[in-house]
Amino acid sequence: MSARRAVESGVPELEPYLHPLLKKNYGSWKWHDRPRPGVLHHVAHSGDEVWTVRAGTQRQLDVYTVRALCDIGDRYADGYMRFTARSNVEFMVANEAQVAPLIEALGKGGFPVGGTGNSISMISHTQGWLHCDIPATDASGVVKALMDELHEEFIHERMPNKLRISTSCCEINCGGQADIAINIQHTKPPRINHDLVGNVCERPTVVARCPVAAIRPALVNGKPSLEIDERKCMCCGACYPPCPPMMINDPENSRIAIWVGGKHSNARSKPSFHKLVMANLPNNPPRWPEVAAAVKGIIRAYQGDAHDWERMGEWIERIGWPRFFTLTGLPFTKFHVDNWRGSRGSLNASTHLRF
Ligand code: SF4
Repeated sequence: MSARRAVESGVPELEPYLHPLLKKNYGSWKWHDRPRPGVLHHVAHSGDEVWTVRAGTQRQLDVYTVRALCDIGDRYADGYMRFTARSNVEFMVANEAQVAPLIEALGKGGFPVGGTGNSISMISHTQGWLHCDIPATDASGVVKALMDELHEEFIHERMPNKLRISTSCCEINCGGQADIAINIQHTKPPRINHDLVGNVCERPTVVARCPVAAIRPALVNGKPSLEIDERKCMCCGACYPPCPPMMINDPENSRIAIWVGGKHSNARSKPSFHKLVMANLPNNPPRWPEVAAAVKGIIRAYQGDAHDWERMGEWIERIGWPRFFTLTGLPFTKFHVDNWRGSRGSLNASTHLRF
């Protein structure tokens, strides 16, 4: 009997799904331009031309919406579509005359056309309540609420450079690939459900998981459990995935923080770290108005003051942080300054080795 072979279930081969002209001219494009926001025009060395129409979606797509998009693709495009990393949907057509009816059909279906060039493209987000195992907020809900407010900046190209935003539903895993990152921030150590720890958690794994060695095994009410040194805990939430009884998600104390700049936020300077500019915003569904106000304040300041083609990180680098806080109207507090005094408590003080 032959050995059972593993079934490869990764990402399928791209090529069979490409528009025939993309397949034919793969890697052989001569030039491209953008005839209008949301439309890309590529010309190949062979002389072939392809128009790509990009539209926004609500990010989490239900099957009815996917079918509606497929119907538009079958009827108005050449039967091909694809999604970008930010869940923009793109249709490719081989004839310029197909572009206007396609845009009209997308508009009627409620899908705004835009997201190209110096615009705010769709906001990327982590999976949130749908299928993340540790979410403290519904990242996709924050995105939907924000994109509703930023619709005009999606359909126009009037930013100094492209502006990318991301939202993250926990503090430790995904998120942050953007000029503006909206991240969950826990502000209180986990509460431990001692009745469950013994049955649910591998205690050595949880102890090893803590980056500041704040967790110890303990016997509570005669049962094996854990205890936290709350003076050391930095409320990262890393102990929650391997041990859900370390309950850190909290409607009041899991807040939202905003970070700007970072390695994705430059076009010609060196990569840099994101910097925290706003903390302790309420996690306030369904519209997260406080987050929207803070993000829009940053966007308007950038839009009004940055030079052409400056990414957000470069703009802040040029004007300096004091002016950034003045222009955005965000409060500057002592918590924004880390002079590393007391860093024993805020840096990794664990002797654990991790690979
Ligand atoms: Fe606190 Fe993070 Fe350690 Fe859990 S893993 S005890 S949240 S520092």
